[in-house]
Amino acid sequence: MNELITDIDIIGQDSENENYIAQFKGTPRHITNAKKLYIESYGCQMNFSDSEIVTSIMQKQGYGTTQIAEDADVIFINTCSIRDKAEQTVRRRLSQFKAIKKRNPEVTIGVLGCMAERLKIKLLEEEKIVDLVAGPDAYRDIPNLLQEVEDGQKAVNTFLSREETYADISPVRLNSNGVTAFISIMRGCDNMCSFCVVPFTRGRERSRDPHSIVQEATDLFQKGFREVTLLGQNVDSYKWSSEETLTSKAQIERNGTENYISFAQLLKMVAEVDPLLRIRFSTSHPKDITDDVMYTIKSYHNICNYIHLPAQSGSSRILKLMNRTYTRDWYLAKIWSIRDILGDDCGISSDMISGFCSETEGDHQETLSLMDEVKYDFSYMFYYSERPGTLAAKKYQDNIDLSTKKRRLQEIITKQQEHALVRNQQSLNKVHQVLIEGYSKRSQEYLQGRNSENKVVVFPKGNHQKGTYVDVLVTGCSAATLLGEAV
Ligand code: SAM
Ligand code: SF4
Repeated sequence: MNELITDIDIIGQDSENENYIAQFKGTPRHITNAKKLYIESYGCQMNFSDSEIVTSIMQKQGYGTTQIAEDADVIFINTCSIRDKAEQTVRRRLSQFKAIKKRNPEVTIGVLGCMAERLKIKLLEEEKIVDLVAGPDAYRDIPNLLQEVEDGQKAVNTFLSREETYADISPVRLNSNGVTAFISIMRGCDNMCSFCVVPFTRGRERSRDPHSIVQEATDLFQKGFREVTLLGQNVDSYKWSSEETLTSKAQIERNGTENYISFAQLLKMVAEVDPLLRIRFSTSHPKDITDDVMYTIKSYHNICNYIHLPAQSGSSRILKLMNRTYTRDWYLAKIWSIRDILGDDCGISSDMISGFCSETEGDHQETLSLMDEVKYDFSYMFYYSERPGTLAAKKYQDNIDLSTKKRRLQEIITKQQEHALVRNQQSLNKVHQVLIEGYSKRSQEYLQGRNSENKVVVFPKGNHQKGTYVDVLVTGCSAATLLGEAV
């Protein structure tokens, strides 16, 4: 059945963007309900969350989703630029799509996200099968871009906005377990960590209207979800003012208004949706997390006792070069505040980079010794990958050879595995409240979920149901998992 789509609503764009959209503004088009979208996502949780926004926009255009690329009318690949390896993965995937395009030249292939933003029109030149390129702030424009493609042209929109938060778009949950979901609370990043491409690919930081966040959390709860993770590159710098034009942190600071919602206040608002709705958040920047946030976690049992606080390095010299704006001692002081306020049980995880420009063996040893001091429950660990256009690429030499980067990374990974085991052993013989997410990966006789500290807990299924809470006595563990029995 054909249906007339009239609701291509483009709001919240900056003037630059409006100019651009005007070029693409077309008449509403006729589409068929039978059209199918295949969407594949790479990179961080933000990207997965964005794919849900894109799917919602496409659904309004009459597209259903398919999990089989060969069946699709439109193939979108939502990309990551954070490391060169991530981009190479996308390029390999695009070359696999060539066979599909050859068999069905009508299929539209679009590249979305950070790689689209970084490479812009160059991506069309380098990857001939790509028809459409859309950056992270251009998703509302996708219907117009698809029209361009249908009219026989290649289509690009990589303008970054200062206001876009997609606040009014209700994401279509993809690959959902029906229990846990992500909610984007802000976009972009104003920090300039010298290694990082994100400020260039995702633009300036802006916070989303808290009422739309609470509404999304409420809707999810009513649909049976029991855990939401509030997402942003730097959630602790969330700031929102009710004055319509005053949405960015910089604007609020310039205008000196006291009248804004902070991240701690937002946490309270979401925690009050329902005591049975668990709240997590990611990522915290050590320079911005406040005691107020920690006391808020402490005062609401449904805000999880877990903080992801990336250190990146244990050497103050390297942290300075990375422009992280804190020293090793300052970072450790934050860790001790967390332990003081939230107790030794509080789950703490990190991101670590090995082999940043000029990193010596001594600097590397400081990273290992920082890990010894903190004993993280979990870490995401990488070796440094120079990204074009970043401050580090402009100012410093990427002078640590690959084998050294990899050897240091392996030492960091080994250390992390030891600490994860030690931390998990501290959970033994204690009862943990677990939110059940589904069957264990290994056996349908077992269920798995997470405790408040974000550790995976596996236990015999009994009569327990997905989406409910159960108390589990932990009786065994590995570095990755806690094992136990419901009590
Ligand atoms: N905003 C978060 C923060 O500040 O911690 C995380 C952003 S980034 C998507 C996730 C992680 O990727 C970073 O914390 C960092 O460890 C890693 N990363 C970023 N740029 C990198 C690079 N050029 N090479 C290696 N790892 C990188
Ligand atoms: Fe990148 Fe630093 Fe922003 Fe995180 S805080 S996204 S690492 S620039």
